Amino acid sequence: MLPVKQAESIILDLVQPFDEESDTETVDLSAATSRILAKQVTSQLDFPQWDNSAMDGYAVRYADIQACSVQQPAVLEIVEEIPAGYQPQVSIQYGQAARIFTGACMPIGADTVVMQEQTRQENNRVLILEAPEPQAFVRRRASFYQTGMPLLLPGVFLRAPEMAVLAAAQSTQLIVYRRPRVAIFSTGNELITPEQPLEPGKIVDSNQYALRAFVAQAGGVPLPMGIVRDQPEKLEEAITKAISNADIVLSTGGVSVGDYDYVDQILAKLGAEIHIHKVAIKPGKPLTVATFPFLTQENEGKGKRSVLYFGLPGNPVSALVSCWRFVQPALSKLSGLPEQAWGPCFVKAQTVTELNSGGKRETYIWGQLHLKDGVYEFRAAGGSQASSNLINLAQTNGLAVLPIGTTLVPAGETVQVLQVGSQA
Ligand code: AMP
Ligand code: MG
Repeated sequence: MLPVKQAESIILDLVQPFDEESDTETVDLSAATSRILAKQVTSQLDFPQWDNSAMDGYAVRYADIQACSVQQPAVLEIVEEIPAGYQPQVSIQYGQAARIFTGACMPIGADTVVMQEQTRQENNRVLILEAPEPQAFVRRRASFYQTGMPLLLPGVFLRAPEMAVLAAAQSTQLIVYRRPRVAIFSTGNELITPEQPLEPGKIVDSNQYALRAFVAQAGGVPLPMGIVRDQPEKLEEAITKAISNADIVLSTGGVSVGDYDYVDQILAKLGAEIHIHKVAIKPGKPLTVATFPFLTQENEGKGKRSVLYFGLPGNPVSALVSCWRFVQPALSKLSGLPEQAWGPCFVKAQTVTELNSGGKRETYIWGQLHLKDGVYEFRAAGGSQASSNLINLAQTNGLAVLPIGTTLVPAGETVQVLQVGSQA
């Protein structure tokens, strides 16, 4: 059976990232949050755009005030008041000053700002009681950024700070990568939707909802295709449709060794290349990874990208663990994120609960990760850690990893924990 790490690298090698020309779209600034830049952004503006004041005070010529003191203040004539947003109208001559406020443009002639606490105003004159350093409290044009320099690079994920930068730079239209399209369907004769009556023996298709949420959280566009019965012709129809619409296909069930497990057979029939059948992971041993190395309708004329197919196990916990461990990095790479953001993201944590494993496969124990006094703590979900038990999966944000050969990690020991459920 394939070791987890090897499966991960095979999968990542199969992913061809989005093309910076053909896999992009233009979005308005207001719709750009959580998108990934495909083109470098430069601004036509300098930052700051004008020399401006960093203080409320007086704009002066340094030569006029350098020798002043409380005993012998410099006395200057106030020739203008410059609030923020106002363009100065007069230039400052010897013996003159302008009243100025934070962020307001420096007037021509002035080179220094004296904060108002070091001054006393008397009618239209100001007494400067103490001189600051020459050029104090002036934010120089272009001292933060010069027109034409790279402002934000391709691959940047747009969060609050980047949105602030783009807005300030008046970048109102952005070229971002399109979102990966991910087809999702569930296989099983036993499956019903959450709305249907639960007859004896039936199982509600929870995977469809879990995977839709997973894909949306990972920045993809879920294309839900519903339930597909364990019949070769139905499966063939569903897979054919999925690969013509999507970049990635996620199906659950039907990849084990049961009599109704037809997925691998149909994939082979349709010309897929199967790269992975089984991985030494628990939960989640049956995992089929295949590629369809031909053009689909969607990317015709947009270069060659094969569709990546994940045949995930049917058990709800196994399906999600496989998504977190294997699909997430593939989606991140495809999306145009830089390599350091592909994940998966592991942290070291102290476990507060004892952790057990059969020791034969790399074991992922679900539970909760939180920071306590700056140190991560992990608590395994209480109750059964069986892969069919999805009830105690709620609130999971970490999976403790027990390597092959480790059967017990006592409470208080340090373990590697895969962080899950949060976005790139
Ligand atoms: P399979 O991998 O198809 O053999 O399914 C393994 C187990 O997972 C069986 O008990 C299924 O009933 C269950 N299962 C399969 N698909 C789903 C699904 N979409 N939602 C919830 N449980 C499922
Ligand atoms: Mg099945």
